[in-house]
Amino acid sequence: MTDQSIRESIAALDGMLFVDGAFRAGQGARLPVQNPATGEIIGHIAAATAAEVEAAVQAARRAFRPWAAELPKARATLLHRLGDLIAADADAMARIMTAEQGKPVNEARGEILKLAEACHFYAEEATRVLGEIIPNDQPGFQSLVTREPVGVVGAITPWNYPAELVGWKLCASLAAGCTIVIKPAEITPFTALAIAAKCAAAGIPAGVVNVLTGKGSQVGQALVEHPQVDKIAFTGSSAVGLHIQQSCPQVKRLSLELGGNCPLIVTASADVAAAVKGAARRSFRNCGQICIAINRIYVHRSVYGAFLAGLGKAAEGLRVANGLTDPAADLGAMASAEPLAKTRAHLADALERGARLIAGGSAPEGAEYANGHFFRPTVVADCTHDMLVMREETFGPLVGVAPYDDLAEATLLANDTPYGLASYVYARDLTEIATLSAGLDYGNVAINNVDAGIMNAPYGGRKQSGVGYEHGREGLLEYFNFKHVRLHHGVGA
Ligand code: NAP
Ligand code: MG
Repeated sequence: MTDQSIRESIAALDGMLFVDGAFRAGQGARLPVQNPATGEIIGHIAAATAAEVEAAVQAARRAFRPWAAELPKARATLLHRLGDLIAADADAMARIMTAEQGKPVNEARGEILKLAEACHFYAEEATRVLGEIIPNDQPGFQSLVTREPVGVVGAITPWNYPAELVGWKLCASLAAGCTIVIKPAEITPFTALAIAAKCAAAGIPAGVVNVLTGKGSQVGQALVEHPQVDKIAFTGSSAVGLHIQQSCPQVKRLSLELGGNCPLIVTASADVAAAVKGAARRSFRNCGQICIAINRIYVHRSVYGAFLAGLGKAAEGLRVANGLTDPAADLGAMASAEPLAKTRAHLADALERGARLIAGGSAPEGAEYANGHFFRPTVVADCTHDMLVMREETFGPLVGVAPYDDLAEATLLANDTPYGLASYVYARDLTEIATLSAGLDYGNVAINNVDAGIMNAPYGGRKQSGVGYEHGREGLLEYFNFKHVRLHHGVGA
């Protein structure tokens, strides 16, 4: 059962929208939100109506010019305050996240603290947005390039990182001087509403931040189609990303952070124990429901047996539990029935086509798992590219492993995908490292570690994994238009 304090926090957000600086009870139909570990209904969202979407966009529109005109230092101060308030309430916010998403509370708290860090990072960036002076071919002219916020941002986010994926868009918008209307995933709305409450408490002016709940196909689509929304910042599946690009009726800025199918290459020179540790973390954390999760692993034949034995043991050693009652569990419940069904389908397909089961393969047994979406961390070996596990994003706690003989073959296999988000390498030989970091066609390459996304560096995908960047200076630039001001002053002519 969800305990009293979480019930109370969620009850305060139940059926609410955050529009023009205040919570208001939504007028639309109520949709239930479940705790994926127990099946319990923890609350409801209100599906925003067309009039409510309009109200939020108009509030963001009205707030835009005054907010853009604020001194960067003033916006930075508010962002710092927001970060402080979020960090101070990390425990309660983490428990709301676990109740709706399933990840263990300690992991959820880590995510909330990273959101707070993002507030501070973008607060600092806000005061360092510089322009340029461009040399001219004629004397007496001066060219300035300045940066101006794009306007009203529509942010549409998935359920796997309910705080961070909202936060990167929110913080970059606020730093740049944009205003924002956020449409969080239908199954994880309360984390976004809890963030809105912190925005209000921080004193961010009315209309600068708005949160609308509801279905993506209605509320999300309404933002995509709205002529007063200047940019869509989307994180989610490649299919919905492409649909957004194709259905956008006006010319509009788009950043699309989409799906992945991320490979790990373990070479003959690798520290196998370190590779096993990295693989176990990045294949199974958040039940593999990470766009940069390791989906498939290519291991040099000389270390294949040792690697498989190690990964099998590591996977079996991970603890699966209800993330609210066992905050330090390694894996909680998966967020919904959908990714669990896909995981089972990919596993069945792999086994049918001749893969060997090394670890996991089923849901954990016991009454405490009976009503939740649980699955054990699963490793299959001897995989080929005929198998879905090697070709599609599973988004679950399943990883496929295959042996390789030479590095060119491993690179070809790793790049044999329409996706290009993140890739991983374990190797100690410098030639192997240089060859792979140049040869992998991915936006991120992590070598001898599995944490490609740091706040200071651009994070984004290629091919069907998307366009645009989050994090770093590049992530902030996505929220600006450039303006070239060419002045003839005649001096020196
Ligand atoms: P999804 O089904 O694409 O949904 C993402 C968001 O889009 C949700 O808020 C959804 O609303 C909304 N949406 C659905 N249809 C829409 C439409 N026609 N117009 C506008 N919005 C619409 O993705 P998901 O299943 O939530 O998340 C998993 C996917 O996200 C995976 O593919 C994963 O790789 C990707 N992801 C990528 C990154 C990255 O940084 N590249 C990070 C995390 C996740 P509803 O919830 O109401 O349907
Ligand atoms: Mg979906």
